[in-house]
Amino acid sequence: MAVKAEYLWVDGTQPTAKLRSKTKILADGEQPGIWGFDGSSTNQAPGDKSDCVLRPVFTCPDPLRGGDNIIVLCEVELIDGTPHPTNTRAPLVEVAAKYADQEPIFGIEQEYTFFKDGRPLGFPVGGGYPAPQGGYYCGVGADEVFGREIVEEHMDAVLAAGLHLSGINAEVMPGQWEFQIGPVAAPLVADELWVARWLLYRIAEDHGVSATLDPKPVKGDWNGAGAHTNFSTKAMREGYDAIIAGAEALGKKRQEHVDGYGAGIDQRLTGLHETAPWTEYSYGVSDRGASVRIPWQVEKDGKGYIEDRRPNANVDPYVVTRLLIDTICGDAAG
Ligand code: ADP
Ligand code: MN
Ligand code: MN
Ligand code: MN
Ligand code: MN
Repeated sequence: MAVKAEYLWVDGTQPTAKLRSKTKILADGEQPGIWGFDGSSTNQAPGDKSDCVLRPVFTCPDPLRGGDNIIVLCEVELIDGTPHPTNTRAPLVEVAAKYADQEPIFGIEQEYTFFKDGRPLGFPVGGGYPAPQGGYYCGVGADEVFGREIVEEHMDAVLAAGLHLSGINAEVMPGQWEFQIGPVAAPLVADELWVARWLLYRIAEDHGVSATLDPKPVKGDWNGAGAHTNFSTKAMREGYDAIIAGAEALGKKRQEHVDGYGAGIDQRLTGLHETAPWTEYSYGVSDRGASVRIPWQVEKDGKGYIEDRRPNANVDPYVVTRLLIDTICGDAAG
């Protein structure tokens, strides 16, 4: 039987790259191999040299088509086999290999917002605003929760694909939700996050809804959408000195991290709505107003992980994981 292989890749859209996909039919027993696409239609090549190469790097069952059908996440390469300039995974793989002995792992909390007819799901049809924030986070009931049927379908799909989902929850703004991938090593955590994002877009599409990663979907007194990135090394999972050293190391490279944490980060990291201002670096135990939070349980146990609360929902997970490994493991290596 022929197999439908859905090839996914990250494009060259600026300032925030997005996912593209197309279907390749594989003959019985055929493995998903290298493929190509028209880079002039994805901001990845000029029209007269338009060919870009897709190299499969992560494959999983396709829970939407079912059967033997698969999803094939790819890196984009130039025709000479080197990484395309928009390929952020290749540099991550190098850094992850360099510090593999420190065994860094990640859990990424992906927040997102459903939109329908130009407004967030749950915002009044005639325009204007719903009741102020307060009851929506982890809420229940038709007056507080919008889009749960999509969220449940997505959760089932992510699990059927075999991805490392650790949970979901309704967020502070109506129509805003979160799922978490991890804890696993990079690049796997980032590969899985891209696939989970694609499944979300694809399932919401069937409901006539668009899922967006806009970091500040509604101006004013409404929470933005982030991608808190939880991080630990073997040493951090074994002792508190490494926890503090990791939090301190991030303070030495504030600007570099903020620059890589997603377009429009200044819109979201204002110092309000459970954020620290992007212009300052801070860390603290249980502090949701700090750049980096040390969970209370981690202080109590004297070991565990830290949470970088700064990345935007629209962050490239290949970039945030590379920066965290490079800064924290690089500092520990001296
Ligand atoms: P929050 O309280 O910030 O909403 P969540 O439960 O949404 O926290 O997310 C916590 C994340 O931390 C999960 O994705 C989980 O997999 C991850 N995590 C747990 N332990 C570790 C660890 N030792 N290293 C890295 N990530 C971890
Ligand atoms: Mn064509
Ligand atoms: Mn969370
Ligand atoms: Mn959240
Ligand atoms: Mn969090």
